[in-house]
Amino acid sequence: MIAFKIVYWLGLVIEVVIRAPFRKSWKAAEKTEQRISRVDQFLLFLMSIAGLLVPLIYSVTGWLDFADYSLPAWLGWSGVAVMAGAVFLFFRAHQDLKTNWSPVLEMFDGHVLVIHGVYRIIRHPMYASGWLMAVAQILLLQNWIAGPITLIVFIPFYIIRVPAEETLMLDTFGEQYRDYCKKTGALIPRLSKAG
Ligand code: SAH
Repeated sequence: MIAFKIVYWLGLVIEVVIRAPFRKSWKAAEKTEQRISRVDQFLLFLMSIAGLLVPLIYSVTGWLDFADYSLPAWLGWSGVAVMAGAVFLFFRAHQDLKTNWSPVLEMFDGHVLVIHGVYRIIRHPMYASGWLMAVAQILLLQNWIAGPITLIVFIPFYIIRVPAEETLMLDTFGEQYRDYCKKTGALIPRLSKAG
């Protein structure tokens, strides 16, 4: 359905707009440490193909039509709700992380550990938003190629990125980060506050 494709693109455009000012300040910021791996960079590149190029080909050409599937309407509308949740979380996370945001693993001059706002309950709201976006894509772009492609790339990205990021945070913030991990879940809030 065309409405679902429009919702996908709308969600993507809103995220680009939300991120734009942070991208600008990230470029200008003084970096004090970088842990950029080739595989992480390659997966980021693949994610732009999966989230942008393939959906674009699917949306403007008929090349992928042979792989279309059709979900019940309620699942398509669930995709709209999941997309709205993804965009909201993306927005909240950027408002809280501010200039500590980076697309890669690195630390800045004056980097602070953010533990307020949405970071008070989960450690990786942006990646949680990424999972939601990947699920929304499956529900909104009803095609065996354009639908699941981001999820397929996001799974290895998440598995590789999160331990490396948490090691960087531990090396930088030590006990403060360890305590923070005890109180929060990675993607969903911790029910008990104990270790
Ligand atoms: N994993 C987080 C942040 C993604 S942005 C999320 O999903 O919301 C990645 C950058 O954020 C990394 O370079 C890391 O240095 C920084 N970062 C991650 N968690 C942080 C935190 N709680 N406070 C400050 N910086 C953080």
